Amino acid sequence: GSLPGWQDVDALVRDAYERERDDRAGDVARYIPSLATAVPDQFGVAVVDVMGGAHDVGDAWTLFSIQSISKAFVYALVADEVGHDAIGERIGVNNTGLGFNSVMAIELNEGHPMNPMVNAGAIATTALIPGATAEEKWSRLAAALSAFAGRHLAIDEAVYASESQSNDRNRAIARLLLSYGRLDDDPAEAVDLYTRQCSLLVSAHDLAVMGATLADGGVNPVSGEQVVSGQVSRDTLAVLAASGLYEHSGEWLFEIGVPGKSGVSGGLVAIAPGKGAIGTFSPRLDAAGNSVRGQRTAAHLSRVLGLNIFASR
Ligand code: GLN
Repeated sequence: GSLPGWQDVDALVRDAYERERDDRAGDVARYIPSLATAVPDQFGVAVVDVMGGAHDVGDAWTLFSIQSISKAFVYALVADEVGHDAIGERIGVNNTGLGFNSVMAIELNEGHPMNPMVNAGAIATTALIPGATAEEKWSRLAAALSAFAGRHLAIDEAVYASESQSNDRNRAIARLLLSYGRLDDDPAEAVDLYTRQCSLLVSAHDLAVMGATLADGGVNPVSGEQVVSGQVSRDTLAVLAASGLYEHSGEWLFEIGVPGKSGVSGGLVAIAPGKGAIGTFSPRLDAAGNSVRGQRTAAHLSRVLGLNIFASR
């Protein structure tokens, strides 16, 4: 099946926004100093379907740093370059059951990063981007994420500087991976690229377009560009289903029933294969670092739009 008619979707997205608007649960991320200054009440919802139709409500065009949601799209870029088997072995596809920046997860698995959606696996994935220099790798990365969004994505320099100065844990993770022979680039360079990718500015609308590209077999439904292959899109969605919301991925799948990805600045994307994607922005987070209102909005919209991939009809 597809989505309901355009008018109906528009009304349902508005209704979802109104329903969740007054929820003030959770708190903004504070471990990256510049994220602590986020306006907590900001709230935007966007739905983009695989025909390119868009429905935007509230702060759907407000820009924020993409943070961990970049992991999904950098993974797709690297998977497209190195192939299913190589990336499956090198980075892994299993949930850690631990927080996104866990060092213990690496130790428990003899240095294996486990999956590309936690920091260890994401830094190891970024380290696999082809290119002779850091700048060449960065150009590829920024071009790929921009192609997913269908527009040029810029960096939030303040967030990049702030995270670069408070990034000891990610630097430790990269060095630990290197010690196990599990990092394919210089650790300082890999962490810097990873920090830059997390600082790219997107809106909830952009996230919905990026997600709809994965929902549409790698074709951006607005620009028409084939950004990654259909196989890579399927692989990326499988990885998101298992680990997109870290140690809460099981609860997410149980409640929402589609692959998704969150980030600590409050962004969230939920992807319905063959149908479209929901993008939300709301900076208040739960204990795992996932947007509270974003999850509630996605749960509601998944129900009323009939998105759950486990439903037989
Ligand atoms: N840049 C953040 C970090 O590495 C991203 C984390 C996240 O969004 N969960 O800690």
